[in-house]
Amino acid sequence: MAVPKVFITRPIPEPVLVQIQAECDVDMWHTSAILPPIAEKIPPLDGLMTYGHEPVTAQMFDTSPNLKVVSVVGVGYDHVDEDAVRERGIALGHTPGVLSDTTADMTWALLLAAARNVVPAYNHVQVNKQWHYYDPNILWGYDVHHATIGIVGMGRIGYAVAKRALAFDMKVLYYKRERRPDWEEELGIEYAELEHLLKVSDFVTLHVPLTEETTHMIGKDEFELMKPTAILVNIARGPAVDHEALYEALSEGQIAGAALDVTEPEPINTDHPLLDLDNLLIAPHLGSATIQTRMKMVTMAMENLFAGLKGERLPYGVLQPRGVS
Ligand code: NAP
Repeated sequence: MAVPKVFITRPIPEPVLVQIQAECDVDMWHTSAILPPIAEKIPPLDGLMTYGHEPVTAQMFDTSPNLKVVSVVGVGYDHVDEDAVRERGIALGHTPGVLSDTTADMTWALLLAAARNVVPAYNHVQVNKQWHYYDPNILWGYDVHHATIGIVGMGRIGYAVAKRALAFDMKVLYYKRERRPDWEEELGIEYAELEHLLKVSDFVTLHVPLTEETTHMIGKDEFELMKPTAILVNIARGPAVDHEALYEALSEGQIAGAALDVTEPEPINTDHPLLDLDNLLIAPHLGSATIQTRMKMVTMAMENLFAGLKGERLPYGVLQPRGVS
């Protein structure tokens, strides 16, 4: 059998790359610059590994009629045209679960930083060198302990966020389409409709997948429901929040602050008005970015890739190869 041709959209850690190179003819996008549309870049492929969120489109499948597998390094696969993959019987894999605790940790890093002014404090002392005397009246934040957190999209990551909230003695509300009475009992958390959750929560965190239904699920109407002291954390996907409405809500004091790990578009334009707000903190999509977790993710993605190339069942599959259940 010919050596399969594989393209990897961003550099992956060497130990995993070496294993893939042992079995495949690998081309990898090496620079840190923006990747051109994948279809323009590559010859016909047998396998594609996406390490990043560049769109994988139907057009790309036309130029790679033998493509057997798309292996996503990450749990969200909204950048892949799922209908086109399904139609062509291409296998699709991702890396769920392994990043849930790590992404929950980052949710808490953002939540605590926003609530307790960690970045303005850093700017005050180290960037602007303004700490000349002890001032008891600057940079007051909001209590996190004993506050109410509303978790929107309570799946693997939302569950891990809820567990951490309990250590802060918080009241935990959650919203998803199907209730989880087992989790309510296990963790002592409460289900709430989205409207109620937004009205009463001090902190709202987003963990939904990006779908038609979740696109702009937090917009003008939702910000109007929220407390003026509320802080929003979006670590799901940028388009879950309407950025124009977010700008208005933050600049008009409809909510107190926000922290985003994800934006629309990504990267956010350097002249975007959101970047000028001092009650907003933006991280460059770091949810799963730890040494340990990224290694596990690329290893899982490699296992999916190898299985898909052989037409076998993907261990972490969204769509299995045609004829495989
Ligand atoms: P998951 O286990 O599938 O959980 C997603 C949850 O969202 C499910 O509980 C689902 O419950 C709920 N949901 C789906 N559609 C909804 C809707 N319309 N309204 C309300 N809830 C809805 O996924 P996960 O592993 O926790 O990951 C969640 C998302 O986080 C991923 O899809 C990805 O986009 C994002 N993510 C981001 C990073 C990062 O680096 N920032 C890292 C990892 C993941 P129901 O079906 O009952 O509604």
